[in-house]
Amino acid sequence: MSDPETLAERVREGDLRLHELEEHTDPDAAAEARRLLIEAETGADLGTVGDYSFPAETAETAIENMIGAAQVPMGVVGPAEVDGSAADGEFYLPLATTEGALLASVNRGLSVIRSAGGATARVTKNGMTRAPVFRVAGVAEAAETVEWVEGNLDALREAAESTTNHGELLGVEPYVVGDSVYLRFAYDAKDAMGMNMATIATEAACEVVEAETPASLVALSGNLCSDKKPAAINAVEGRGRSVTADVVIPGEVVEERLHTTADAVVEANTRKNLVGSAKAGSLGFNAHAANVVAAAFLATGQDEAQVVEGANAITTMDAREREDGETDLYAAVSLASLEVGTVGGGTKLPTQSEALDVLGLRGGGDPAGANADALAEVIAVGALAGELSLLAALASNHLASAHDELGR
Ligand code: NAP
Repeated sequence: MSDPETLAERVREGDLRLHELEEHTDPDAAAEARRLLIEAETGADLGTVGDYSFPAETAETAIENMIGAAQVPMGVVGPAEVDGSAADGEFYLPLATTEGALLASVNRGLSVIRSAGGATARVTKNGMTRAPVFRVAGVAEAAETVEWVEGNLDALREAAESTTNHGELLGVEPYVVGDSVYLRFAYDAKDAMGMNMATIATEAACEVVEAETPASLVALSGNLCSDKKPAAINAVEGRGRSVTADVVIPGEVVEERLHTTADAVVEANTRKNLVGSAKAGSLGFNAHAANVVAAAFLATGQDEAQVVEGANAITTMDAREREDGETDLYAAVSLASLEVGTVGGGTKLPTQSEALDVLGLRGGGDPAGANADALAEVIAVGALAGELSLLAALASNHLASAHDELGR
């Protein structure tokens, strides 16, 4: 095995390529060799990037050309009191972010939710999708293909499920555009986010479609899936888990803890999150669900690019008058397409696994899928807390002063 200096020199001389270093040494030494090379080439000091605490080999399936780690501060909020179908009880939620005041705000929302007796959360739909696109001669062949697919779901299921122990094919939704046929396969991926699983399973099913119909596969993903792109189909049909969290906050708590009234928060939600978002042509109708989703994704090893669809949420609020004349605040966040897993992908990395341990949700659930359901429910309650805190701050007009107090 060569030392990092020698390897860096060999890359500089063109004897080795940057991505070949792991073939000549262990992953940590390969990362060091790359740092030496990049430091020499760019003048950057990578001392902190190289000061990571997990063995580089644990990241081998997560990254190529590793030079170190981007260390994002991680904090914790909570406990989130959750009455869910899978998550039941109190959960500390780890969040990784560089946005000051975010955790303070979410923590305030969670504290208010606890004062209200906790939030309810449910996963109402679950299906990881992959939508290959096929070429046909024209609409007659398109219709023939669709008819075959609709009549032979069992054959597609058998092919798809032969590639996975956990995944289950839930259904296939066909779409026709001219001489293109899109088949949107949906899977219950259990505790996996499922994108690799769904892709591999769909590839096997596509072979059957090609053998039995006039359709020819053009691309395994035809973008109707729709992965990592803002798309109405995810907002309407869902992708991953569709999850909603809601809470009724007694009027007294709104006044004492949030320094505002249910009516004022509802008005802020209507004019900002609903009307403002509609006027902006927004896909999501919320204040900042992306903040909690992104920070939870980074902390727990989710695929961070899926924040695009994971943050697609509608926040609804209602002032509910009680018999005693007091007005309570009903608040809900519905995330249409939250793609989360507790096995596979980045969840295996050491710091991310530890964060899942904080939640008690590392690895496969019992029954399979229960841990990912619970993670979705806790994140939804975190997003609800963030919406409540920000909307209440806007309603009571102290957003600017909160940032001032935290020195920003
Ligand atoms: P994965 O790491 O590829 O696979 C996870 C595997 O864990 C499953 O396939 C399953 O094996 C196994 N498993 C063990 N216990 C399980 C349980 N309780 N529930 C479910 N599965 C269990 O993960 P993935 O979730 O399928 O894919 C996530 C990765 O895909 C991320 O790294 C992400 O960045 C990447 N990604 C890929 C694409 C793509 O187009 N391929 C797109 C976006 C993201 P069995 O299948 O044998 O049951």
